[in-house]
Amino acid sequence: MIKPGFETLKLGRKPEGRTLLTADWVLGHHDGSHRLVPRGEVVFDNGEILFVGQHFPGEVARRVDFGKSLISPGFIDLDALSDLDTTILGIDTHPGWSKGRVWPRSYVDAGPYEMYMPEELALQKRFAFGQLLLNGITTAAPIASLFYREWGETIAEFDAAADAAGELGLRVYLSPAYRSGGMVLEKPGQILPVFDEQRGLRGLEDAVGFIERQSGRHGDLVRGMLAPDRVETCTIGLLQRTNAAARALGCKIRLHMAQGIMEVETVRALHGSTAPVWLATNGLLSERLIAPHATNATDEDLRLYAANGVSIVHCPLVSARGGNTLNSFSACRTRGINIAMGTDTAPADMLMNLLVGLMTSRINDGAPDRIRCADLFDAATLGGARALGRTDLGHLSSGARADIAVFGLDDVIMAPSIDPITTLVAGGSGRVTRATFVDGRPSMLFGEVAGVNMRSARDRVQQQFDGLVAKYPERSWAHPPVAEIFPPSYPIESSAHG
Ligand SMILES: [Zn+2]
Repeated sequence: MIKPGFETLKLGRKPEGRTLLTADWVLGHHDGSHRLVPRGEVVFDNGEILFVGQHFPGEVARRVDFGKSLISPGFIDLDALSDLDTTILGIDTHPGWSKGRVWPRSYVDAGPYEMYMPEELALQKRFAFGQLLLNGITTAAPIASLFYREWGETIAEFDAAADAAGELGLRVYLSPAYRSGGMVLEKPGQILPVFDEQRGLRGLEDAVGFIERQSGRHGDLVRGMLAPDRVETCTIGLLQRTNAAARALGCKIRLHMAQGIMEVETVRALHGSTAPVWLATNGLLSERLIAPHATNATDEDLRLYAANGVSIVHCPLVSARGGNTLNSFSACRTRGINIAMGTDTAPADMLMNLLVGLMTSRINDGAPDRIRCADLFDAATLGGARALGRTDLGHLSSGARADIAVFGLDDVIMAPSIDPITTLVAGGSGRVTRATFVDGRPSMLFGEVAGVNMRSARDRVQQQFDGLVAKYPERSWAHPPVAEIFPPSYPIESSAHG
């Protein structure tokens, strides 16, 4: 059903003149916090918000009514799924080292290779960006696994990713991930790091060149962020140079740490402390640092994060599925740590993550009253913007960028509807996202994404993912067949039983 006004919005095209969006609810912003505005209006022109409130007094070129919906700031995803997720292969298959999650020595000695062709790498990014837009995510700092790469990410792939962000209309913080080391399975259960410092430094150089060339492109949708891959695969030299480069570029650094037992044990063996303590000792903790996931952070680690202004990226779905949680969301807030959110895994559904985040925090707290749905919503909007140092993102106010998500409140899967934020967080599904605007441009309208046909892309990426799975025996310990690495949930039978 097309309501009046929608026909003047063209998918993927910035509208001419002022656009007024209205709905039963608008999430505005006042005095430092979000505010619910009934029958509110958001007016923007050329990507900038001019007005948020009721009864806009000026002229507009179009007026679009989303009815029983919430017009919200788009989500900011700082560990945004940007490949065909391989961690889901490990949901029911353990331990990870025997299931192709760590390179065995035989694979390293044979020479690791790229498991996807360049065009496949480009397509999976484009498809993943479409998934983010379908879930109301307007800003993304992409993350992808390096397990299936020859070493780090490539410039060609990220040039393609920057173009995809421009064509689809997604705000991104990008550069190819690099590392000076990798984890190698030397024998069953024994995982040790191997280092190649020069390779890491070359990766940093490539990333800096990429940012210098790409930052500000596509109407400033593309900006840079340095992304050394996980702390246990970085040398102190690489991290020091990364910090200096980020300072010179004026960009942030994302570094996974305090996120897993393998990391904690490896860093302790190499440096005699936890990763946050190691970095603090070297003067590398600062507001420049964005650190997923903090699920294995000690009290001291969290104290150092708070004291140095480090932002956490909380990705509750992937953590909880692996039997891990941030302990706890509410405790980190009380310490004054800025918390942003990330999707990290499939499905790239921020609302689902907010629900899992609410539940896991309450389980850790042993109480239901230390956080509210709005606290999670804050993290996915204001927390992300703060981590990026962007005062013009994460809220709907005049002068901010028009990065907007529209969520249906009358969906049959979310009935009954109560308070809009509680309804969306408790509902836990991004499938109610009706529209996503980035810089005032409709990038997703009613399930259609600008710049990519998600249906046909879905078929193609499934084929390439099936090809990747077929190669798992080559990079799994003792090279068992696929059926043994990933056995079916139930025995497969082809004959009927009575
Ligand atoms: Zn992550």
